[in-house]
Amino acid sequence: MAAHRAPLTNHHADESACPPDHRHTSTGKPLHPNCPGRSYSQAICTCGTWEFKNSGKGYVDECRKRHLATHPTPAKAPKVLRDLLRLDLP
Ligand SMILES: [Zn+2]
Ligand SMILES: [Zn+2]
Repeated sequence: MAAHRAPLTNHHADESACPPDHRHTSTGKPLHPNCPGRSYSQAICTCGTWEFKNSGKGYVDECRKRHLATHPTPAKAPKVLRDLLRLDLP
């Protein structure tokens, strides 16, 4: 099973994408001439049952990570479990 991803994207107030080359000052003011300003950030998980939208980019990132942590990732199985499985080998 492949691990799920929930990429974070930024959007303008009209819901169009605010791409990474639309840079902003630390206070959120747009530096790009065509950028009306970032209105919100959004993350949609590839599992299809979760999406989150908020004006706080850091908050979306936090919720995104918290949601992704609920998906078990086979590669991250605890070492002790892998050792146990290995004991079953001849
Ligand atoms: Zn923009
Ligand atoms: Zn998910």
